Amino acid sequence: MKTVVIGGGVVGVTTAYYLARDGHDVTVLDKAPTLGTDATGGNAGLIAPSHSFAWASPQAPKMLVKSLMGEATAIRVKLSLNPRFLWWGMQFMRECTPTRARANTIVKLGLAQYSQAEMYRLEEEEGLEYDVVKKGAVYLYRDEDELEVGLKKMDLLADHGQPIKRLSPDELVSLDPAFKKASEVVKGAIHGVADGSGNSEKFTENLAEVCRTKFGVTFVNDVTAERFVAQGSRITALITDRGEFTADSFVLAAGIQSPILSRTVGQNIPVYPAKGFSITARVIDDSATPTLGGVDEKTLVAWSRLGDTIRISSTAMFDGYDRSYVTSDFDNIFKTAKELFPAAADWDNASVRSCMRPMTPDGPPVIGLGTRHTNLFYNTGHGHMGWTMACGSSLLLADIMAGRPPALTMDPFEVRTRRKGR
Ligand SMILES: Cc1cc2nc3c(=O)[nH]c(=O)nc-3n(C[C@H](O)[C@H](O)[C@H](O)COP(=O)(O)OP(=O)(O)OC[C@H]3O[C@@H](n4cnc5c(N)ncnc54)[C@H](O)[C@@H]3O)c2cc1C
Repeated sequence: MKTVVIGGGVVGVTTAYYLARDGHDVTVLDKAPTLGTDATGGNAGLIAPSHSFAWASPQAPKMLVKSLMGEATAIRVKLSLNPRFLWWGMQFMRECTPTRARANTIVKLGLAQYSQAEMYRLEEEEGLEYDVVKKGAVYLYRDEDELEVGLKKMDLLADHGQPIKRLSPDELVSLDPAFKKASEVVKGAIHGVADGSGNSEKFTENLAEVCRTKFGVTFVNDVTAERFVAQGSRITALITDRGEFTADSFVLAAGIQSPILSRTVGQNIPVYPAKGFSITARVIDDSATPTLGGVDEKTLVAWSRLGDTIRISSTAMFDGYDRSYVTSDFDNIFKTAKELFPAAADWDNASVRSCMRPMTPDGPPVIGLGTRHTNLFYNTGHGHMGWTMACGSSLLLADIMAGRPPALTMDPFEVRTRRKGR
């Protein structure tokens, strides 16, 4: 079966791998000159089921109101009358009840756990190198009361098999001495014992090489998909700026661009961009640089050690498809980095960038066959967890396309315009 995958991020390339392993003749198209450079190339690097909490939570509306009033909150919204954003935002608000937040978190956790195990299995089978760290991740608290609230919140994940441990500042330093300076400002931490971190761009590039050499997958870069052509219930072609691509089936894994392409054949999916900012700095003092990735839960800044660099990211800004940024967008990152790990890296020469999470309002990604065509499949909308969830999502999709029963219940991931019943 000839299959075209649109998007060469971590989701598209893992999709290509599992499909090629099943015998598909796969071609991956990406508009960028190299693979894995969009969200996949700018994320915080955490492989973190312990960070599966749904963003649509009872606390979110308050944060959005504060943001609209000009406060520099972690989730920021620019007021917009864009109908796509209003439609997405209304769905997000409906998911902010305690019951929905809990249900969405459990679904995301299940996929993240499944995916992390599959990522490590794949890494071993294919001998992939991607600066992986498997010692857990730490969630730092600067306030005793917030630590207690954080621990209580984590109970939900612990009840669903995610191991977590409370750490005092001294225990944090024993675990990783690079937290010495950080231990002066934090009151305690939560160790997501089974979490990890790694370089998703490197993983994507190296897995693409396996796809090429072992399975004969074709990668075509510098080609922009423009629209699908449908005849009745079948997609017959994909039109690009470099001509037409035909196939038996198509998989849409184009991150934030997925809803734009799906609408060309009438399929609405609730995916909207949430812009984030990240920096990458060269490590100058190994002993002052954390091996463990983590999140400062006060400033919502996340970091990972990626080989001889450290990646740090923060902020979710709902500002449409505008990728622009100003220097002050990185203030929170640099302030936190210099406070926690002052001697770690060459902060003055760090590279900076923005990148966008493909968010669904409820949190679970969109995986499976679309509702309008019999050969257009979706693997997209992984939001803030796409690196963690990529391998599992792609294996689930390959199972569906092969007619094998997937390992997880697929209802929460169904291709949808909006959640049924809401
Ligand atoms: C700031 C930030 C921090 C994050 N931190 C983490 C983290 O710590 N852990 C975690 O698990 N996840 C994290 N994420 C989320 C994660 O990075 C994403 O969910 C994931 O990378 C999505 O992968 P993707 O392949 O779907 O999208 P992308 O990586 O964006 O790839 C989509 C690809 O499609 C291509 N494309 C788009 N349109 C077209 C077109 N028309 N034609 C051809 N090609 C096209 C693009 O060029 C791109 O290469 C973070 C995201 C951000 C933004």
